[in-house]
Amino acid sequence: LKPLKLSTNTYDDDVLSAGNSIIPTKENATLLMLVRNFELSGALKSMRSLEDRFNRDYHYDWVFLNDLPFTQEFMEATTAMASGNTHYALIPSEDWDRPNWIDEQLFEDRLELLRDRGVLYGGSKSYRNMCRFNSGYFFRQKILDSYDYYFRVEPDVEYFCDFPYDPFKLMRHNKKKYGFVISLYEYEDTITTLWDTVEEYLDTFPDDVAMVNNSYNFITDSGIIGKFSPIIDSNTDYNLCHFWSNFEIGDLNFFRSDRYKRFFDFLDSKGGFHYERWGDAPVHSIAVSLLLNRDEIIHFDELGYFHAPFSTCPTSYYLRLQQRCQCDAQAASNIDISPNSCLMRWWKNGDGKRFLKDNQT
Ligand code: GDP
Ligand code: MN
Repeated sequence: LKPLKLSTNTYDDDVLSAGNSIIPTKENATLLMLVRNFELSGALKSMRSLEDRFNRDYHYDWVFLNDLPFTQEFMEATTAMASGNTHYALIPSEDWDRPNWIDEQLFEDRLELLRDRGVLYGGSKSYRNMCRFNSGYFFRQKILDSYDYYFRVEPDVEYFCDFPYDPFKLMRHNKKKYGFVISLYEYEDTITTLWDTVEEYLDTFPDDVAMVNNSYNFITDSGIIGKFSPIIDSNTDYNLCHFWSNFEIGDLNFFRSDRYKRFFDFLDSKGGFHYERWGDAPVHSIAVSLLLNRDEIIHFDELGYFHAPFSTCPTSYYLRLQQRCQCDAQAASNIDISPNSCLMRWWKNGDGKRFLKDNQT
């Protein structure tokens, strides 16, 4: 049996060249990496992988953000690795540093508490700045003003398969606003009061929520049934499910909207990014689950991906051959249908229709 050759994923706005080959049009999008200078080798590894698997055919720009100035060495090496243009920006301190209304003593006490409890990054100040930045400020950076979509990339990740489509184009054509590959449970100790705050937000801004078809059911287990999971032990209706944000492809105009900013500002006003250790993953996930219709969220299940300690790999044997995947669907790190994964809950919630080849319908 020979695997079928995957038909080229083209769209009606792609252009036909004189030689009859199809030239894909580019979206108004960028690959985006928040990164530190000392992570250069990991940054190059991720870039090489994404360039090989996707961007070498498209040449999308890369944007790099940092709370400290990038070194010449960092900029030269990443520019050499990129097939598109590269841009570098310094994050203003007011978008990164701890706000001055955070109570110093309470902050130090809470750091110690979470550190002593052995919570991952529980004692880290910079990690908190990073999570708050990724929740409420990345999309406000001037350097992103001219783009509509971003694809978040982290150092030391790997993309296992050739992309069978341009995810930006797929998102625009199908009106998707947020895309993920892995979904799992959050550590409850990092977000002790997050859900109570979200409920307060819901009472305060009920009109902001997507009423028709949101994903509230995906992130909550108010009934008894959901509480049987061996993994979750949540003290609230939030079942701790979130999209892993080290991979995300999103619509910047959604994050730049007043609705999203009201959501972030409400959360931020409670100080939980610093007094606790609220992550940008649960914050983004709760926001898109409540504010978007569920078919505006897409699970990219054709894209193999690894960020320690978890991976995802297409289940279909032929798909793995067609996309030259270098991953083992049986690997111990594959989270897709393990008890740590929230994917089964997502399937139950439903992610709308798939439109992989909408040009052919
Ligand atoms: P983890 O994936 O949750 O274990 O956290 P990472 O250490 O990978 O950090 C998440 C992302 O934020 C990565 O892209 C890091 O490069 C970046 N990052 C984390 N802390 C800082 C920081 O203090 N400054 C900058 N510029 N980037 C950071
Ligand atoms: Mn990471």
